Amino acid sequence: MSLPQHVASPTKPDLPQRRALQGFGRTILGWGEGNLRDLPWRRTRDPWHILLAEVALQQTQAARVAERFVELTTAMATPTATVHLGKAGVISLWSGLGYNSRAVRLFQTAERLVESFDGEVPGTNAELQSLPGIGPYTAAAIEAFAFERDVAVYDTNVARVIARAVLGAPTSTKVGFELARSMVPKHSGWLFNQAMLDFGATLCTARSPSCERCPLRRRCAWRNSGDEQDPARTTAGTARPQGRFEGSARQGRGRMIERLRRSSATFEELRTATGWDDDAQVATQLNDLMTAGLLSKRGAKYFLG
Ligand code: SF4
Repeated sequence: MSLPQHVASPTKPDLPQRRALQGFGRTILGWGEGNLRDLPWRRTRDPWHILLAEVALQQTQAARVAERFVELTTAMATPTATVHLGKAGVISLWSGLGYNSRAVRLFQTAERLVESFDGEVPGTNAELQSLPGIGPYTAAAIEAFAFERDVAVYDTNVARVIARAVLGAPTSTKVGFELARSMVPKHSGWLFNQAMLDFGATLCTARSPSCERCPLRRRCAWRNSGDEQDPARTTAGTARPQGRFEGSARQGRGRMIERLRRSSATFEELRTATGWDDDAQVATQLNDLMTAGLLSKRGAKYFLG
């Protein structure tokens, strides 16, 4: 297999022609036919359940979300059921998934859907992006995975595959997204995007890509270039710097929410839960949690929601 044909472009590197991109797309699609991970949200097309999974997957590993998916979609079966559960109920249910503000946004989304969309998830990208916490990535994922549209779902895994296999060079989100869009085979948006995500997550991984068993190895621009420098390292959207968790404000906030999942609590009880001895630090974090809508105060007690 030869290298992809390229056309002149004002940007570096030259961009592959559409035909070459479609070839990449078909190969990824073929790989996906036999290699998709069995994940529970792939067995449904219920737009609300897909939305819920995508919000959870934003910052939690797929395996952890998979363990909780049935429980979550049973308790929050519909936007209406989610509203009935109440904000505190949704935050409580979110236990163990981390980044609790997503539970608040999910509850707010359910409220918006009930108020403005008859309790249904809307079908257009603009309407999806008007919902709390739904950005371009999640909106595209709902379009592809619930409505089976031929759109491109562009995340960190996809950006890495494009930079390595298609370009052999770092790229911007704008260019990478356009290339991904040109790769989607007609009427195969669901399978192609699932395959692309898994291809990046399981084969063309960040630290040790399995090039020897990769169906793209003969046309992979990076492998064929012989360049030691991994282009994914400097590609927009592929770096996810994680701050230290141990001893962080995030850890303290998480402990306070975890304590409130059991029952309401006083300032002192919440300070004990954090393990901190600095009242000002506890007060600052409590304030942030209240601003984020995660807790409220009545009298001397703090409550979830
Ligand atoms: S050959 Fe290696 S670097 Fe290239 S796409 Fe395949 S796994 Fe990724």
